[in-house]
Amino acid sequence: MNFEHSDKVKDLIARLESFMESHIYPIEKEREKWLQDPTKLWQPWPGADAIKQKARDAGLWNLFLPHEYGAWSPGLTNLEYAPLAEIMGRVSASSEFFNCNAPDTGNMEVLAKYGTPEQQERWLRPLLDGAIRSAYVMTEPDVASSDATNIATTILPDGDDYVINGRKWWISGVMNPDCKLLIVLGRTLSDGPKHQRHSMILVPRDTPGVEIVRPLSVFGTYHSPGGHAELRFTDVRVPKENLVLGEGRGFEIAQGRLGPGRIHHCMRSIGQAQRMLEHMAHRVDNRVAYGRKLSEQGSIRQDVAKSFCEIEMARLLTLKAADAMDRYGNKVAKDLIAAIKIVAPQMAQTVGDRAIQAHGGAGVSGDTPVAQLFLTNRYVRLTDGPDEVHMAQLGKLKIAEYTAKPLR
Ligand SMILES: Cc1cc2nc3c(=O)[nH]c(=O)nc-3n(C[C@H](O)[C@H](O)[C@H](O)COP(=O)(O)OP(=O)(O)OC[C@H]3O[C@@H](n4cnc5c(N)ncnc54)[C@H](O)[C@@H]3O)c2cc1C
Repeated sequence: MNFEHSDKVKDLIARLESFMESHIYPIEKEREKWLQDPTKLWQPWPGADAIKQKARDAGLWNLFLPHEYGAWSPGLTNLEYAPLAEIMGRVSASSEFFNCNAPDTGNMEVLAKYGTPEQQERWLRPLLDGAIRSAYVMTEPDVASSDATNIATTILPDGDDYVINGRKWWISGVMNPDCKLLIVLGRTLSDGPKHQRHSMILVPRDTPGVEIVRPLSVFGTYHSPGGHAELRFTDVRVPKENLVLGEGRGFEIAQGRLGPGRIHHCMRSIGQAQRMLEHMAHRVDNRVAYGRKLSEQGSIRQDVAKSFCEIEMARLLTLKAADAMDRYGNKVAKDLIAAIKIVAPQMAQTVGDRAIQAHGGAGVSGDTPVAQLFLTNRYVRLTDGPDEVHMAQLGKLKIAEYTAKPLR
């Protein structure tokens, strides 16, 4: 296994780090203040468009889209993208400046992989341009949605249309005024194998019957401008050609969508853990208690050492998962994808916890990025499936694999 990045990736890393230095770190606090100002709720930070244009001009745009999507893609493999996502992850929500943010990335992959030419022209092109935003609409308040076969919203044929009825929640990005497209998962068929009853359909955000019930807060903040909302669909009617791939093929698409999305979250978590550790190191080297620097305390050095080891282990596992996705496809790599989704956010949460402790009261304040990055990793342990679901799937896979061979 070669642990060296190629020259192409080294060049991209250098350019991205320089871009972060010039354009992202300097505006981090100002943008955060705007996004948390209750009088500016759901209004995008006004400096965002200028930075996006600079990222586009610098060739740091849509880097997430894997090379197999030909003309749509800037041509990187998952392995090549991993260190770049790690760098973007260091600043909360900065991947949007590079058009590499969830849920749009997963939605663009769905359209690139499964969309018809008409669907691609109408929705994929403006998404790739960053002209519009989108939401992925699966989770429901009334059923345990970690088991997606429970999803109860109906998508039923009626003449030339499908009609959608149901309740959804935790729909990220939908509060953003630029959100124009909803990709909705619902039940189309009431019988047949339970993984072949659901479908995915494209719903323009302004379709009559789509109603925002309320925005949801995460640890007390709204994650403006995209937010997370509860939605109600009442007799929402869209033409039949808005269905993606075909009736009953929703889970097939969801599997294709979630593999890359999961690993992108993990890459960002690693960048966040790395940044929290760097802040911790600076803090303990600049603080004296009981006559010596905190950095000279054995327990603090242990915390730094353990954090370094855990970050490095997670980073290598992420790279291995990304490499397996490139070589053998997402289906074959599903054990490694599950493994890294279990490991990375939990690791970043643990590193963040140590960093908070070492900072004392400053650790839970807004004065450093540590508190926010710590909280991010707490909820990433739920998004794209909770830890337990990945563990259940991985455990099942490994038991089957090991018991298929004679015991030695
Ligand atoms: C910030 C945030 C953003 C989100 N964004 C989106 C989005 O854009 N679109 C969208 O559709 N959804 C989104 N979600 C929803 C998220 O994907 C779901 O919350 C998640 O899949 C879990 O579903 P649930 O909340 O219904 O939990 P449930 O299914 O009710 O599960 C509750 C808990 O039960 C336990 N559990 C479940 N299964 C097992 C098992 N097999 N073994 C042991 N324990 C188990 C787990 O601890 C789990 O957390 C978001 C969630 C959050 C917090």
